[in-house]
Amino acid sequence: MALGNDDVFDAFLSQRGHRTEPDSVGWKRDHRKKQCPECGGLHDPPATECSVCGWAPHESS
Ligand SMILES: [Zn+2]
Repeated sequence: MALGNDDVFDAFLSQRGHRTEPDSVGWKRDHRKKQCPECGGLHDPPATECSVCGWAPHESS
């Protein structure tokens, strides 16, 4: 967990997501698990962010 990289990572995601629909930025579904679209890590439904790479779904703020 590297604090300080989140801003850079968010900017990276924002740039990539600029061409896509906001709804496309979210968890993939794998049966009853959530799957991180960045690293493919599987998580239980309550997960709000990827514990593997730190990815989190797009949030309007
Ligand atoms: Zn991940």
